[in-house]
Amino acid sequence: MTKMHKIDIDLVEMTLDVMKYTVDRISNVTPELGSPQREEELFEKIGETVTPKGIGGEVAFKMFRDILVKATVPIDHPRHLAFVPAAPTRAAIMFDLVTSASSIHGAYWMEGAGGIFCENQAMKWLVSLTGLPKESFGVFTSGGTAANLSGLVTAREAWRKKDAANIGVRALLLTSNGAHSSIQAMAKVMDADVVMIDCPDENLRGHALQSAIDELEEKDRKRLFAVAATGGTTNAGIIDELDSIADVCEKEGIWFHVDAAYGGGALAAPSVRQLFNGIERADSITIDPHKWLFSPYDCGAILYKDMSLAAEAHSQKGAYLEIFKDGGADGFNPSDYQIQLTRRVRGMPLWFSLAMHGTDKYTTAIEKGIELARIAAEKIEQDDNLELVRPASLSVVLFRRKGWTPDEYRDWTYRNHKSGMALVTPTKWKGETISRFCFINPETTEADIDAILETMK
Ligand SMILES: *Cc1c(COP(=O)(O)O)cnc(C)c1O
Repeated sequence: MTKMHKIDIDLVEMTLDVMKYTVDRISNVTPELGSPQREEELFEKIGETVTPKGIGGEVAFKMFRDILVKATVPIDHPRHLAFVPAAPTRAAIMFDLVTSASSIHGAYWMEGAGGIFCENQAMKWLVSLTGLPKESFGVFTSGGTAANLSGLVTAREAWRKKDAANIGVRALLLTSNGAHSSIQAMAKVMDADVVMIDCPDENLRGHALQSAIDELEEKDRKRLFAVAATGGTTNAGIIDELDSIADVCEKEGIWFHVDAAYGGGALAAPSVRQLFNGIERADSITIDPHKWLFSPYDCGAILYKDMSLAAEAHSQKGAYLEIFKDGGADGFNPSDYQIQLTRRVRGMPLWFSLAMHGTDKYTTAIEKGIELARIAAEKIEQDDNLELVRPASLSVVLFRRKGWTPDEYRDWTYRNHKSGMALVTPTKWKGETISRFCFINPETTEADIDAILETMK
């Protein structure tokens, strides 16, 4: 009895600590911009934490709150414009806690029906943004990498099913040199080869794709199973010419995958939607809600034109799983359509936030990122020290500080990060080290942009 009582008090105290921290954190729009420390340094401050008796929740939580979290970079800081930042809505973050607390197994309808229903409501909206045909659908994954792998494995299996001569043949994939590193990495996982197409027009277009196919040796042409186009390159926001690529894929009978992990959010932005024309002809599409759809980590998505092909590629069989497939458990089983079995219902935070705010607010927030990129580009053009490298694309701006060496870009990045002012990192464009902004957070202001550009004087 007394023991139970003690546990309850601990639980209440811990819950209050956690809730207070969470509410404070999500109310704070400019959290301290932390930076990494060496592991030995952290260990010196923290010491051993996993012990036979435990150090107690209060102590462990205090260590996290006062020391460890400060050795992380809050990706939602309004002056974090490096890589692809994030800006999860407060609603989505709070519902992430609810998702955890509810202990829902997201693999099969039998156990997860109510949660999977939520996910599917959000998925229906994602599918509608793409314009894919009515029977198309998708499933949430741990991220863009897992989504790309799930989509490409489906493509490869469909290619082998179509022609038994392909069974046992090492498959080959075409993509552009602007494609995300995960395409090559996942091809390695699949033991498939990748041919990268150079894009003189900056984006991949049908004619360049057709030439690349025509240049393949006969034996390689036979190994070609898919084209992976990009709907917004991570480095520059460049969108491949999806319509003309779709023409070539149709004519050649090749799977058409679109990686819109970063750019996919912009499908909800009328100002740029036409740049994605042709995406509705894809066989599979990757979109990361944890990038530009304001979901907490981690949440990716893979969409398919034909779900039955995904099920053939991914559905797992096992004696202990059979119950899930019988009539009584009839329903949508997310595990049948991507690489993961046991899974968090990670689309739930997105669903709650969409349900609460409505999709119009998403459009406004995404358009804000595009507008911030346009404003930053204007400011850069007006500054004698600075130069646009290419026009802003989606929410990415590539620009140079005239006369700076790669070392100067690096020192500038560290200086701003160390002072807690901003995190903006250099990138490379055509071999040159330059600077890059990527806007996601609608709370970023013009004054933030001015303050950062001021440090480049
Ligand atoms: C970020 C990104 C990925 C990888 O997604 P993760 O969620 O980090 O696994 C893949 N493709 C593109 C275009 C991306 O921007």
